[in-house]
Amino acid sequence: MSTYQLVVKGCLVLENGAVTGELGINDGVIETISSDQGTLKGARTLDFGDAYIFPGLIDAHVHCYTNPEEGFINNTASAAAGGFTTILDMPYDSPDPITSAERFKDKVALLEKEAIVDVGLWATVAKGGAQQIVPLAEAGAIAFKLSTFEADPYRFPRIPDHEVLQALHLAGGTGLMVAFHAENGEIIGHMIEEYTKEGKVAPRAHMETRPPVSESIEVLKLMEMAYWTRAKLHIVHVSHPRTIELIGSFQRQGVQVTAETCYPYILKDVSDLEQLGTKAKMNPPLRDPEDAKRMWEYVKAGAFNMITSDHVPWDKSKKNAGKDNIFKAAPGLPGLEIMASLIFDRGVAKGEMTPVQYAQLLSQHPAELFGIEGKGRIAPGYDADFTVIDPRAHWVIDEQKFRTKAKITPFHGQKVQGKVIHTMIRGCTVYDGSEVVQKPGFGQFVAGSASTKK
Ligand SMILES: [Zn+2]
Repeated sequence: MSTYQLVVKGCLVLENGAVTGELGINDGVIETISSDQGTLKGARTLDFGDAYIFPGLIDAHVHCYTNPEEGFINNTASAAAGGFTTILDMPYDSPDPITSAERFKDKVALLEKEAIVDVGLWATVAKGGAQQIVPLAEAGAIAFKLSTFEADPYRFPRIPDHEVLQALHLAGGTGLMVAFHAENGEIIGHMIEEYTKEGKVAPRAHMETRPPVSESIEVLKLMEMAYWTRAKLHIVHVSHPRTIELIGSFQRQGVQVTAETCYPYILKDVSDLEQLGTKAKMNPPLRDPEDAKRMWEYVKAGAFNMITSDHVPWDKSKKNAGKDNIFKAAPGLPGLEIMASLIFDRGVAKGEMTPVQYAQLLSQHPAELFGIEGKGRIAPGYDADFTVIDPRAHWVIDEQKFRTKAKITPFHGQKVQGKVIHTMIRGCTVYDGSEVVQKPGFGQFVAGSASTKK
């Protein structure tokens, strides 16, 4: 019997099912999987009983620097405590977005000093800056994110259609995906103006001024562009069933389009926006209850490639600015510390989703879509990245305990079944069930596939 540096025991969520077994790990890599227990000998053994051991979860949609007072340290501590072993960070940093290889490399250097979990980096382009796509891909961008909606003229601009086409062509050559925030600014801008004139500024107005068509019409346009350019298109934060139905129809035509939804769109609806106001404001908005229900049905049926958090840690002042006028509140919610447990509760604990489906949506599919080697599965040769969830633990979400400064969530006070009790990266514990135990700098840069393929 050979001895491993580490043996981990529990209910292993493998590609084809969950089995009680054990893993032999050397140098941070899985070497052996046994579906018996007591067959592997470890210099150290961690026994998680009948808790699920998932492949390390990956959140492909995180904003560490939208609020620059947060950054990698707080946000990756949140990720570790929430069960995420890898996050992919969005490029709309404040004050300067990641639009050049130079800025990209500076951000890599920063994450290598400060990250506690592994981090891949999205890149974006400035208006007129599409020629930066190839240098950014070579610098290690995990993918590109662009917007059809002008959230900010410099930091988060709307890229005009002809430049989107150019970006899709250029990115297509790198093999990297181009993702879009897809909302129509003309419809939304006009409706907000009308509503404001009429004094209709209560929370529900946020949903009404961003009707489903303002999302679906932009997604349609992008998919037609992907058809002609053969680029890999990804639609982030799909909020409405109509949108995923359209995506399905283009997929059946052979267009390379993938989609994610974010956990609030399947767990909350516009009634929460009405009750909680700015706490539940995000773009696109929460939808009608029957739409949220249909979104969940589509998730279970496999229509979505992954679920992400769209974690945006705004502090209270940015949210409170919209107390009397919903349009003035910053959109976005923190999610890293609660999403894994919330989806487990709604899906696996309630028997509506198998542990394998859960692992696909939160680990395997993001690893495959972004071409992250050595992650996304519990298999020999893969990194010993694990998220351990106790399926019987009951707990209550307390926003005051969040590790980000954004102590705001519409899920505050909610009871949850299923709790992250351990997070491990490359064979090292990063979260032990109560504390984050690794220091900033433990996390590694996850380079995009265009920079590693050479
Ligand atoms: Zn986002």
